[in-house]
Amino acid sequence: MSYAEVAVDFPLAQPRTFSYSIPPNISLSVGHAVWVPFGTRLVQGIVLALSEQAQVEETREIAEAIDAYPILFPRQVKLAQWIAERYLSSYFDAAALMLPPGFERRVLTYIQPAPNPSELAVSSLTAQQQKLLSIIQKKGRIESGKLKKLAGKDETDPILGQLLRKGLILRTQELQRVKISPRLESRLKLAITPDKARETMPHLEKKLAKLLSLIVTEPEPLTLAEARRRLSFAPTTLQALIKQGLVVIEKTRIQRDPLAHRIFTATTPLSLTAAQEEAWSQIRAELRKNTPKVFLLHGVTGSGKTEIYMRALAEAISLGKRAIVLVPEIALTPQTIDRFASRFPHRVAILHSKLSPGEQFDEWQRIKDGEFDVVIGSRGALFAPQPDLGLIVIDEEHEWSYKQEEQQPRYHARDVAIRLAELTNSVVILGSATPDVTSYYRAQRGEFQMLELFERISSGEPSPLPKVEVVDLRRELKEGNRSIFSRSLAKAIALALQAHEQVILFLNRRGTATFVQCRDCGFVMRCRRCDVTLTYHAAEDELVCHQCNYRIKPPDTCPNCLSRRIKFLGIGTQKVEEEVAKTFPGARVLRWDRDVTKGKHSHEKIMDMFMAHEADILIGTQMIAKGLDLPLVTLVGVINADIGLHFPDFHSSERTFQILAQVAGRAGRGKMGGKVIVQSYTPAHYAIVAAAKHDYASFYEQEIAFRRQQGNPPFSRLAHLTYIHTNAARCQKEAQRVYRLLEQERDSQGLPNTTLIGPSPAFTQRVRGRYRYQIIIRSPDPLPLLAKLTLPQGWAIDINPVSLI
Ligand code: ADP
Ligand code: ZN
Ligand code: ZN
Repeated sequence: MSYAEVAVDFPLAQPRTFSYSIPPNISLSVGHAVWVPFGTRLVQGIVLALSEQAQVEETREIAEAIDAYPILFPRQVKLAQWIAERYLSSYFDAAALMLPPGFERRVLTYIQPAPNPSELAVSSLTAQQQKLLSIIQKKGRIESGKLKKLAGKDETDPILGQLLRKGLILRTQELQRVKISPRLESRLKLAITPDKARETMPHLEKKLAKLLSLIVTEPEPLTLAEARRRLSFAPTTLQALIKQGLVVIEKTRIQRDPLAHRIFTATTPLSLTAAQEEAWSQIRAELRKNTPKVFLLHGVTGSGKTEIYMRALAEAISLGKRAIVLVPEIALTPQTIDRFASRFPHRVAILHSKLSPGEQFDEWQRIKDGEFDVVIGSRGALFAPQPDLGLIVIDEEHEWSYKQEEQQPRYHARDVAIRLAELTNSVVILGSATPDVTSYYRAQRGEFQMLELFERISSGEPSPLPKVEVVDLRRELKEGNRSIFSRSLAKAIALALQAHEQVILFLNRRGTATFVQCRDCGFVMRCRRCDVTLTYHAAEDELVCHQCNYRIKPPDTCPNCLSRRIKFLGIGTQKVEEEVAKTFPGARVLRWDRDVTKGKHSHEKIMDMFMAHEADILIGTQMIAKGLDLPLVTLVGVINADIGLHFPDFHSSERTFQILAQVAGRAGRGKMGGKVIVQSYTPAHYAIVAAAKHDYASFYEQEIAFRRQQGNPPFSRLAHLTYIHTNAARCQKEAQRVYRLLEQERDSQGLPNTTLIGPSPAFTQRVRGRYRYQIIIRSPDPLPLLAKLTLPQGWAIDINPVSLI
């Protein structure tokens, strides 16, 4: 093969490769990482295909292979291609998901003075040129980024070019050093026998003898760090021993094992209940077949899904296969990890973003070497180089943290897992108490095999789900209670505190809710055309539809009941904390939200404190709804269930149902049982009613009917286009321009059932001083429309977005 199709590391908005010729001294296969010339630079690339023919007439040569072996498995190359084509990213960005941590390196440019400058050139310099040259002369050799910082960015580049042409400076390129490398430990060893060492000691200087004696007496291996802790000695002392040939330093590679500080007692599988057995037998049969298959395991919280995952893992292992288990980042708690790690001691690897880069690198390397049967992690763990893959489990499959929203490629781990299963003949188990509406729809249509567990298990016996009471906040107000706690919730909190039990107060808030709601009748202002909630913009004193840009002045009286108590809502966790302190002065309170939990261990710490009963009340946002067994919690209060319902996004009912159902399922997992109180101004909303009854089916029936009526997913697919610019007017203008282009393209392709929504300001319109506009494409398949379009920088495309906010 003489040509390679290479995915290059260059910001491209489209999946495309470039052809390079392969010099005779380099041998390459698909999946090799290479350095290639691109424009005036060297960039990294991944070989996606080899051929005898080039796609273009003139090709440049591959500069170098980065590694002796391909860095990606063939299946990973195929998966990367699929991801790039489906989510419209560059091939390299998709492949980068699968590269080892710390792989990406940059090419750095260094500037230095030329050795023999011509005097003529020096004498004819402008003041600016002279200034820059003198900085370079002073520094000797400087990286160009640093130089630009020193000299002021803007004009540096052209002046450097001028100096270069005059032969006054030299420019060289170098690869940035790899930041992560295996961790090495220095160990002290005798270079002679212990007996010889003892003989030598009396003839040595006292400090040398002391150190040598330590090395003789300490059990091996004695690390340098440990020796320093035992005995303080100068580096020269050690050097003297080495020089005399008595001691050597050995460098040994050590593993940064995230589970190293934990001890596991091995557990054995439980004998399954009849319901579990029924589900399990179907999974077992598929695991033995060696063909791709997707199960949707729908079971209420505590119905024994995790036990089934572990059965499936054990079965896969006994068949000589390996597995990947995805859990939401937030559920990667010690409790979850312990459960898996103690069923499969020393066979489990952990991968998630809070590990240090070094820890990630080591785990990745060991996984590739086939050291683990099971890899557990958040969404990125899907790309671990797990050999012999046969099973993928996605727990809490409805969680939107499975979607990468912040950067390209904006992939969804569920969809990628299904594709990966096709490439590897694996079985996928999607588990949830509240499946994504689209997943449930696909299972009902037979694309996935549905498995359902209807009852909770606790200590082997089925146990009822907690009672949920929905309190009507409109009535509280009518009867004179203006506090954020209804009488019912206040009384229940007081009782729990008296009994020394624990309480969780929950606020299902994401961002600041700024919708207009009548406190008397619960009415919420919505867009007449799109039926989404209108958002209040204080700057313009206007209500805005974030789908179609419809705007009106906020009303003084409620259009529904003419009450004047129509006002803006917005309560944060801090406000709840203040109110608790006022109403229950003796209670010990912990707050758990994004502000508090930014550090590495703070999740664990707050949970540990709460579990150790160092606090009575825990206040938090959606994060506390998941993955935790808390035996002392007997009461969960939802402060205002409506907040989540009124985001301008058709997903908002689904999200609210999911969160409320999770919260409701959380309470009362211990022996003491539990109670949930949900406060709402719209207690009759189907999402609230269904969640209170733990009734997924009735929620789904309503929701799927609305989706069908409005043509939203799963009855269509969406593409969410966002444009960001610092200037509000230019931002709007560009959005309108692209909207018109899309309209033309749609009409010329004659695409049926394709709706363009927008352009409108995005819900969080201004982020860090930049404006955002959005266009939504709703279509059976938005890709053909987008394929013809080249969008300038500043645009981001999200295919199948999980959020339109
Ligand atoms: P889920 O993953 O659906 O929330 P779990 O697998 O965590 O449910 O099970 C809930 C509880 O029931 C756990 O404490 C688990 O140990 C226990 N459990 C699960 N299956 C069985 C079983 N077959 N027999 C006894 N206890 C079980
Ligand atoms: Zn009203
Ligand atoms: Zn609208």
